[in-house]
Amino acid sequence: MSPYEEIGHRSIFKGIGVSPGIMIGHIHLLDRQRVSVRRHEVSEDLVEAEISRFKRAVETSKDQLEDIKNRLTHDVGKDLSNILIAHMLTLEDKMLVGKTIEEIRSSRVNAEWALKKVLEKYIQSFDAIADEEMKKWKTDIEHVGERVLRNLSGQQMESLGELPDGVIVVAHDLAPSDTLQMKKGRVVGFVTEVGGRTSHTAIMARSLEIPAVVGLDRITTLAETGDSVIVDGNRGIVILRPDEALRIEYEERQRRYRYYERELTKIRDLPAQTQDGTLIHLAANLELPEELPTILEYGAAGIGLFRTEFLFMNRPDLPSEEEHFQVYRAAAERLSPHPVIIRTLDMGGDKVASHLAQVEESNPALGLRAIRFCLREQDLFRAQLRAILRASHFGDVRVMYPMISGLRELREANLILEDVKRDLRREGVPFREEIPVGIMIEVPSAALIADILAKEASFFSVGTNDLIQYSLAIDRMNEHVAYLYEPLHPAVIRTLQMIVEAGRRQGIPVGMCGEMAGDPLYCLVLLGLGFQDLSMLSFSIPRVKKILRACTYAEARALAEEVLRCDTATEAHEQVLKYMIRRFPEDISEEGGQVCLL
Ligand code: PEP
Ligand code: MG
Repeated sequence: MSPYEEIGHRSIFKGIGVSPGIMIGHIHLLDRQRVSVRRHEVSEDLVEAEISRFKRAVETSKDQLEDIKNRLTHDVGKDLSNILIAHMLTLEDKMLVGKTIEEIRSSRVNAEWALKKVLEKYIQSFDAIADEEMKKWKTDIEHVGERVLRNLSGQQMESLGELPDGVIVVAHDLAPSDTLQMKKGRVVGFVTEVGGRTSHTAIMARSLEIPAVVGLDRITTLAETGDSVIVDGNRGIVILRPDEALRIEYEERQRRYRYYERELTKIRDLPAQTQDGTLIHLAANLELPEELPTILEYGAAGIGLFRTEFLFMNRPDLPSEEEHFQVYRAAAERLSPHPVIIRTLDMGGDKVASHLAQVEESNPALGLRAIRFCLREQDLFRAQLRAILRASHFGDVRVMYPMISGLRELREANLILEDVKRDLRREGVPFREEIPVGIMIEVPSAALIADILAKEASFFSVGTNDLIQYSLAIDRMNEHVAYLYEPLHPAVIRTLQMIVEAGRRQGIPVGMCGEMAGDPLYCLVLLGLGFQDLSMLSFSIPRVKKILRACTYAEARALAEEVLRCDTATEAHEQVLKYMIRRFPEDISEEGGQVCLL
């Protein structure tokens, strides 16, 4: 990696900002270098002793993880202790432990070498899979392997729990067990060489609300403990050894950002209403139940997309109906009287739960995912529907099916829902008889027949993440075609207009819950197109609300019409960007070629 600007001692780097905020401080370089492993042969009479040494290292690793878990479960979310459980389960894995023992025995080599070989093979098998969940699992295996290797070689892992207060951690990578130890106040920011938006460490940084930048290849070779550093998580910028002028500039940016955040909290309880009186419903997307309190802090008017996949991940078995129910009921009660839209399982394709019997597919994004998978695995689907219906007795719960591509799927799903309702009635279990049943519009075929679907769905919610992927034939996970992923592409805008129109004619609400809904850059265009129900990461709610409160519906309409007249995505993007920067200079600016806050 080379910095994109280097003057004297200071260097400026550009990575991926995964958690917002600006921090100026000193580096603590975390030793997470790989343990170097040498091969040596073990004589036959010492093979069993070598296997015992390996088993002891595995046990020590389990104890260490257990210890971290016990110390941390009180002040971190359950999902994170689940990560530790996943690490512990990896240590029970026959593939990893069993194969290493086999390798020691058959090749008569030292445990470190045998483990390294097995790890390499194991990890390689993940490389061909472009799936975020599998990538996380691969990282888990790497971290666990590293821990066992360290225990075998007697090299200690430096603990983040023992760091001085107020440091910015720079590391090649951070294991979830590292980030779990980042108590608020102790580590005030971090920078890593690897990682992406959906990595565990990024999720953790966001929940701790500390700025973080990832993807800065080889930064550990350039930074040293004690170096001064600026981390700008808003723009993904890291400045090593800043000079006085830059430090002053960033102190000013930091002040402005903090002021901006404080200002945002002031509008928390105010309605998302335009100057000319149009009300917009801003709800939150929920990925983990731990986000519930945060959602309320950001002033969400309900949950517009309750992703239920987390219930199936990081565990060796399926969640029971009761588990589903407890989670949904808690959300319904907490958010009441606001609506909670629970999306039925969107597993398959890019989201994989290891224990579910999923088929191997050469084209998983177009395969047996979401509603298709649920219609195949009906027991699992029924258990979830039962739980949703039971929870509907405790708040304004609604159900939503993902990836509907035609009327048949909607009808089939509804038949099962009716059947489940009949069972509950027979059992005398209370539920909301007229529970609204909506569908996600995220497949072009569904958009094209939105008028037909609108007759049998209670509401639509547009999933732009997939709708754009399928409309423009761009894999949403593939960084090589990421530049073509354009929300303002004329084809996307026309599709959105069509969906809104179909909903309006049939008199059903049309919302949006894809990432596009939470991007402040697009909120005026969306309002102008007729979207008055937006669901987003709770963190984005005040940002979008601030803009909506300052605009008029009339100007949103005019901007949307301008966009509808554009022939290319580039033209539309330029128009919108120019307009938004001029109109909302406090909220949107363009620096270094990218849109960012402040
Ligand atoms: C979407 O596709 O826009 C969406 C919200 O669903 P997911 O990102 O979970 O596929
Ligand atoms: Mg989707």
